Amino acid sequence: MSKTYDIVIAGGGHNGLVAACYLAKAGQSVCVVEKNDKVGGGVMTRELTVPGFKHDVCSVAHTLLQANPLLRNDELELKAKFGLKYINPDKMTAIFYDDGSTLEFYTDLERTCQAIAKFSERDAEAYRRFNHQVFQNLDMLVMGMFNTPPSASHQALIMEQSQVGQELMRTQAMSAWDYISEWFENDKVKIARYASEAMMNPFDNGTGFGFYIILPLMHRYGVGIARRKASACSTCTPSAPTTSRAAPSAGTRSAKRWHTPSSTTCASSPPTWTTTTSSASPG
Ligand SMILES: Cc1cc2nc3c(=O)[nH]c(=O)nc-3n(C[C@H](O)[C@H](O)[C@H](O)COP(=O)(O)OP(=O)(O)OC[C@H]3O[C@@H](n4cnc5c(N)ncnc54)[C@H](O)[C@@H]3O)c2cc1C
Repeated sequence: MSKTYDIVIAGGGHNGLVAACYLAKAGQSVCVVEKNDKVGGGVMTRELTVPGFKHDVCSVAHTLLQANPLLRNDELELKAKFGLKYINPDKMTAIFYDDGSTLEFYTDLERTCQAIAKFSERDAEAYRRFNHQVFQNLDMLVMGMFNTPPSASHQALIMEQSQVGQELMRTQAMSAWDYISEWFENDKVKIARYASEAMMNPFDNGTGFGFYIILPLMHRYGVGIARRKASACSTCTPSAPTTSRAAPSAGTRSAKRWHTPSSTTCASSPPTWTTTTSSASPG
């Protein structure tokens, strides 16, 4: 028997799942169709090497997300109701150099400055000033990150009108390396600064802003290492499994679908998911 939904989301990665939950909370019925045998996408934990050793596939730390109202205000009750927990170790990152020296970045800004001072007093002071400068704009930037952006031309018009806006536009256009070099002089500090941040080529123009925001944001909101996964809502009644022909290939396969419960008691809960095994024919 076929069932219709208000929304069908292709792909059960965290973005699809979070969007599904918000839609469910808004009263929509949602079906998430996932081609793999497990939902989660890049945020899955899997035994990729030796049995018993579990790895984060593509999700070591949920850093930028810590500033998102999803977590800050626990809008989907992932923490309060579903057991999501984050740990924020004092030591955020550390770099080991060939000569045996190390440079540690702590959640605490002053401790980080002390660690940098081992290599350069001037860079320690620069790091302090850099962070305080970004802190002044951080609330505005966070608001911009998690709201619908204005058009590029409108955004440029607004930013052009203030010195802060002009400086941000300059940062956006630069490479992380050029920006780092404006602030820091010691090679180890410069290397550590970019190696510990975005997984992008720091010499590419346009990477400056990633550098600009990530460490100040980590000092303010923490690293965000997930401690345990959220469990499915035990009060939800899963919808009846439906036959899946989600992906266009032949053979018998197992497909998972994530169904939002239609009951209003679960409107604010993540959808529950069920497994269906189906025989799919070619095409
Ligand atoms: C090596 C690596 C490390 C990373 N580390 C971090 C980190 O530490 N912290 C961090 O915040 N981010 C990290 N990221 C980025 C993060 O993993 C991604 O931003 C995130 O997984 C994107 O989520 P998503 O839901 O958009 O897509 P995905 O997680 O890719 O999920 C997409 C889902 O859609 C499914 N799908 C695709 N096509 C179809 C289809 N046609 N039909 C049905 N299902 C389909 C896929 O199977 C998958 O489950 C890392 C990325 C990489 C590559």
